[in-house]
Amino acid sequence: MAVDKLTKAQAQQEADEIRPQLIKWGKEYYEQDQPSVQDAEYDQVYARLTALEKEFPEIISEDSPTQKVGGAVNSELQKVNHDIPMLSLGDVFSKEELQSFLSRLQVDYPDDTEFNCELKIDGLSISLRYEAGKLVQGSTRGNGRIGEDITKNVLTIKSIPQTLTRPIDIEVRGECFMGKEAFLQLNERRENDGKATFANPRNAAAGSLRQLNAQITAERHLDTFMYNVADYSDLQATTQSEMLAELKELGFNVNPTFTVAKKVAEINQYIDKYQEQRNELSYGIDGIVIKTNSLALQEDIGHTIKVPKWAIAFKFPPEEAQVKVLDIDWTIGRTGVVTPTAIMDKVVLAGTTVSRASLHNADYIQNKDIRIGDTVVLYKAGDIIPEVERFLPEKRPQDSEPYQIPTTCPSCGAELIHLDDEVALRCINPKCPAQLAEQLTHFASRNAMNIDGLGPRIIKQLFDNELITDVASIYKLNLTDLVNLDRFGEKSAQNLLAAIDNSRNNSLERLLFGLGIRHVGEKAARLIAAQFKTIETIMAASHDEMIQIDSLGPTIAASLVTYFADENSRVLVKELQAAGVNTDFLDVNPKVQSETFFTDKRVVLTGKLIEMTRGQAKEWLEARGASVVASVSKKTDLVIAGEAAGSKLTKAESLDIPVWDEQKFKAEMEKE
Ligand code: NAD
Repeated sequence: MAVDKLTKAQAQQEADEIRPQLIKWGKEYYEQDQPSVQDAEYDQVYARLTALEKEFPEIISEDSPTQKVGGAVNSELQKVNHDIPMLSLGDVFSKEELQSFLSRLQVDYPDDTEFNCELKIDGLSISLRYEAGKLVQGSTRGNGRIGEDITKNVLTIKSIPQTLTRPIDIEVRGECFMGKEAFLQLNERRENDGKATFANPRNAAAGSLRQLNAQITAERHLDTFMYNVADYSDLQATTQSEMLAELKELGFNVNPTFTVAKKVAEINQYIDKYQEQRNELSYGIDGIVIKTNSLALQEDIGHTIKVPKWAIAFKFPPEEAQVKVLDIDWTIGRTGVVTPTAIMDKVVLAGTTVSRASLHNADYIQNKDIRIGDTVVLYKAGDIIPEVERFLPEKRPQDSEPYQIPTTCPSCGAELIHLDDEVALRCINPKCPAQLAEQLTHFASRNAMNIDGLGPRIIKQLFDNELITDVASIYKLNLTDLVNLDRFGEKSAQNLLAAIDNSRNNSLERLLFGLGIRHVGEKAARLIAAQFKTIETIMAASHDEMIQIDSLGPTIAASLVTYFADENSRVLVKELQAAGVNTDFLDVNPKVQSETFFTDKRVVLTGKLIEMTRGQAKEWLEARGASVVASVSKKTDLVIAGEAAGSKLTKAESLDIPVWDEQKFKAEMEKE
């Protein structure tokens, strides 16, 4: 019902129902980086609440999402106060709404007011503080007034200058985001490592930036566009567009598409242009931001508790397509997880042709009640991944029946089960042909043994012809085997054999990752190989010895121990060795060399150091990846105690935390 037809009591009741829902979605989105609904759905409910509160201002409550920026700040990162708050943006969803916003502004301001049009980058806002041109602090927006300290993390982002071209004090704000390519690669790596994938680049960026371990941020290839300054008194610019140009001169990455527009028609042209081109950009945008160009005017117009009144975001509608589900295909991964995919008629969605969409798991199909023959609405999460949003009841065929989830493996016929609390269905038959083929593909893949030319199609061909049965049999292939296969010439056979031969010389971490041991991703494989050096030492290591390795948790350790306790695995290792495959760590990866004893350690400095200052010790430790923290807790890894150390030393001793004196610390420094 239109809000002006409601009584105050009805409006109050509706607002009371809506707010908890928005608060829950906000928590999932801002704090957990795991939204459960599309942005457009959130925006629609939010717009309804805004309308109710506008009609009946007396129903506005303090906890209303319309009165707050972002989510609660409750991560383990240190807190940072924003002296000048970081605000959100008001939004409009149509050109008519935009026109009314601009007309309202023009009542008070001259008709020839200029506007700067910018892309609305789909990431999360950050603030960077520089003193005398040097980067001293990075922070997230948080709730607008208090954010999280992400200084170490922003130092790893290449597009953020650590020194400006002028030695000024300045706090610059902008968007941190993950490009589409980096996002797809990250999800591919996570899938390979058996980890949950991110729903879209925005959540991936937020999750990557808000990390205690800055090394993780460094690996995620984040990028930035800066577009605002907290206090521009040190700049020469007098307009938004001049300010963007000045930020560029100072060394920041500034999105080059900004345009000054005077007339509504020019703003609309900019909107249309980028709405059409958004799929071609290498990063996600979710709209256009229109800002009053004059900085003096911006200050004069001011802001509400939540948004600047001199700017507005024009949000793009989500791109959707309707398409018929022809079938549901179940694929078996290398660890036996069975995943459903909707097979559909071809449809063009947000710039690409789509004919498949992941349905994630059996629960997803059942919760959304998706059936073969249904017409469904598809959208692209974060402009990239096709997702099924819902089915259209009016287009459901009369004879439609609920989809029957398979109970047996489509490849080997074994019964499918749920392991522990997993939502995924699994085939646990170790001889399941589909799993074996996937394991072989993984073994040969780029990040594992990197056998060029041994992709899924050829593996299937070799497997179907019983030329390979397990990873060791790859090394028994010969020219005659290959040239007798369909579509295999002598040259390609020789190339493949050469690539297989090359892989014999890989360093141990590639083999370890390639074996596909549960939970052992690339990074863990590198750590283990660098630490134990040979496969024999790994096979002989106990669970306790494994967990001595930094950042190796008990799950990975248990998985390794179980894997190598199995006689089949031991036989496989022997066969690989007999085939000439190297099983030693060759120490060629610079990433491993940069790991030190101190990487990721939480260290507390206490008491007076004689041969160095506390500041020097802190700098030295942080340069080696340690976090120097102020107080001792169960999570502290090491306490370095100088003279006259007091309560922190006592607490460390009571918690059994290792304590070094200055001499021991000096000795360890010399070893590094
Ligand atoms: P917002 O993302 O809609 O807009 C404000 C932000 O835009 C700024 O803080 C800034 O980070 C960003 N921005 C990007 N480019 C910019 C530019 N050129 N100039 C200025 N700012 C720019 O607002 P918000 O308050 O951060 O988040 C609200 C939005 O988040 C909602 O509209 C909704 O789409 C989404 N959300 C979704 C869920 C969900 O469950 N799916 C939950 C909560 C919020």
